Amino acid sequence: MNIQVLGAHNCERQGLKLISLLIDDVLAIDAGSLTSSLSLEGQQKIKALLLTHQHYDHVKDVPTLAMNLFLSGTTTRVYTIKPVRDAVIRHLLNEEIYPDFRQKPTPNPTLSFTIIEPGKLLQIEGYSILAVPVNHSVPAVGYQVTSADGQAVFYTGDAGPGLADYWRYVSPQLLIIEVTAPDKYTEWAAESGHLTPGLLKQELESFGEVNGYLPRVVAVHMNPALEEEIAAEIAVVAKSLGGSITLGYEGMELNL
Ligand SMILES: [Zn+2]
Ligand SMILES: [Zn+2]
Repeated sequence: MNIQVLGAHNCERQGLKLISLLIDDVLAIDAGSLTSSLSLEGQQKIKALLLTHQHYDHVKDVPTLAMNLFLSGTTTRVYTIKPVRDAVIRHLLNEEIYPDFRQKPTPNPTLSFTIIEPGKLLQIEGYSILAVPVNHSVPAVGYQVTSADGQAVFYTGDAGPGLADYWRYVSPQLLIIEVTAPDKYTEWAAESGHLTPGLLKQELESFGEVNGYLPRVVAVHMNPALEEEIAAEIAVVAKSLGGSITLGYEGMELNL
């Protein structure tokens, strides 16, 4: 399994992009930087897009991707939980901001949405997909993606403390987990459903207790202005846990 980190941040500026992952060129997760990272050909290769939640940094490129693919004759399948589908249609694809690409063009609309249920294993494009509920300020899920040869990655999306409740459902070789801010923002992070390096450490300790090992960990969704501080604190966490924890970056490729 090849995983490209197209965007690794929670804010966008020159050289830094909003969160998006791309697996084997065909399966995208979150849409913060699909159209700004991929050629038209690359965008056409995306067969399925999984959305973790409705916040703008995760859904921004749903309309722009659809517009690029409009009239291409292909339909891209979008999988997500119902609140996210409803919010994207209500606020973005509402015929005011942009067209409702579920309806046009006929007979092959550009987008089709499939509602997923957390906890129910789905087969999508040859991958086993498990949506796992996570604690955030709006309904949100993380996704475990398992390839046909049994390699698995779990991406949390935006998630605050409390992953321990769900660790028993996942067993990834690679964990892509959000770390939005440094430890001085712990109170804010816990309230708004995000992690800091200190909170990450607690979540990883509980992962180890439940699953008996520590996967390779890549942190994403960093606030760029705070990234140096986050990196320094993550290095301390990695040392104390004796594991591999690195910061994701735009263009990073991970292979399982
Ligand atoms: Zn969010
Ligand atoms: Zn976010």
